[in-house]
Amino acid sequence: MSDVELIGLSKRYGDTLAVDDVSLKIEEGEFFSLLGPSGCGKTTTLRMVAGFVRPSAGDVVIGGNAMTGLPPERRGIGIVFQNYAIFPHMNVFDNIAFGLRMRKVSRSEIRRRVGAALDQVNLDGYERRYQRELSGGEQQRVALARVLVTEPRILLLDEPLSALDKKLREEMKYWIKELQQSLKITTIYVTHDQSEALTMSDRIAVMNEGRVVQIGSPEEIYEHPADRFVTSFIGESNILAARVVGLENDNFRLAIGPFEVAAPRRDGVAEGQSVSLVVRPERVLLAHEADHADVALRATVEGKSYQGSLVRYRLKLADQIFVAEVPNRADRPALDVGAEIVVGWNAASTEVLTD
Ligand code: ATP
Repeated sequence: MSDVELIGLSKRYGDTLAVDDVSLKIEEGEFFSLLGPSGCGKTTTLRMVAGFVRPSAGDVVIGGNAMTGLPPERRGIGIVFQNYAIFPHMNVFDNIAFGLRMRKVSRSEIRRRVGAALDQVNLDGYERRYQRELSGGEQQRVALARVLVTEPRILLLDEPLSALDKKLREEMKYWIKELQQSLKITTIYVTHDQSEALTMSDRIAVMNEGRVVQIGSPEEIYEHPADRFVTSFIGESNILAARVVGLENDNFRLAIGPFEVAAPRRDGVAEGQSVSLVVRPERVLLAHEADHADVALRATVEGKSYQGSLVRYRLKLADQIFVAEVPNRADRPALDVGAEIVVGWNAASTEVLTD
C-alpha cells in the first residue's frame, strides 16, 4: 500500500489553476521530490497534503485514510519551511519541546524525546542556545528536530535549504538524505533545484504549469526526459532539429542537416516526421575519442571556456550550435577555436523527442 496518494488533486485561485489534476503515489520510506520552476504549483500541492490548503478537487490519502476536511495536526505530518521557523525568544531545547508541551507530554518524556531529537540532528550540547547563536544550517537542523520530535508519519520539506549559502546547502543535502534513510521516514521534498532533487530523491515528480509532466527515478528523469520541458529543466542539453529518414533494427536513422545518424527508436514516431535529438554535453566525444562512437560528424570549434575540472566547447555542427563538456585532463590537449574536429556520441546516450 502507498503511504501517500494524491488522487486528481487540483487547486484553483480565481483564474489560476495552480495545481491541475495531480495523481501520484508515494511509497512508505520513500524520498519523493516535487521539482519544477517557480509558480509550477509544488508548494500548493505540498500544502494540500499538509492540510493548509483545501483542494478545489481531488483527495489526499495518507496511510490508506482520506484526509478530506482533516486539519494539519490530525494528518500525522511534520513540515519544515524555507525560512527556518524557530522561535527567537526560546532556546533550542524549548523550541524542540514546544510541540510536545502543546500535546501535554510529561516532563520526563519531553526530556527524553528532545534529547533523542538533538542526537538525530547532531546538536547535542546546543540545548541552551538561542537562534542568534546558531548558524543557518544549525537553525534548520533545530527546525527539523522540532518536527521529528513529534514522530510524524510523513515528513514534508518545503525548500528547506534555499536560505543557506551554497557550501552549506551541499553539506545539508547529503546530511538530510542520510537522516531520512536512517529514520526510513516517508518524505516529500519541494524544490526548484534540480541538483538537490537528483542527489536526494528516490523518485522525482517534475511539475510544470500545475501538472506533473514526468515521474521517475533521478536516472530515468535525467537519461530519458519525457519531453522538451523536462529536457531543458533538468541539466543542460543539446537539442538538435532532426528528421526521421528510416528505421534500422532498434534505431531510427535521423537526418541532421547533411548528416545521417542513428538514434534510439521511440514509439509513435513515423518516418518523415520532424523530431529533436537530445545529446547531453557530457556525453559528447571529441576528436580521436569519437573514433569508435556510433556517430561521428565534422564540426567546427566556435569557442571554449575553461571551467577548472571541465572544459566546455561551443561547436558548430550542421549549422546548429552544439555544446560539449569534457574533463580537463593532462593527456587531452585543448582544441583551438576555429579547428575542424570530429564530434561523436553513442546512440544509446541520446534521446528522441517529438515535441
Ligand atoms: P515557488 O517555487 O515560487 O514557491 P511553486 O511551484 O511552489 O512556486 P505555488 O506557490 O504552488 O508554486 O503557486 C502556483 C501558482 O498559484 C502561482 O501562479 C501562484 O501565483 C498561485 N498561487 C499560490 N498561492 C496562491 C494564493 N493563496 N492565492 C492566489 N494565487 C496563488
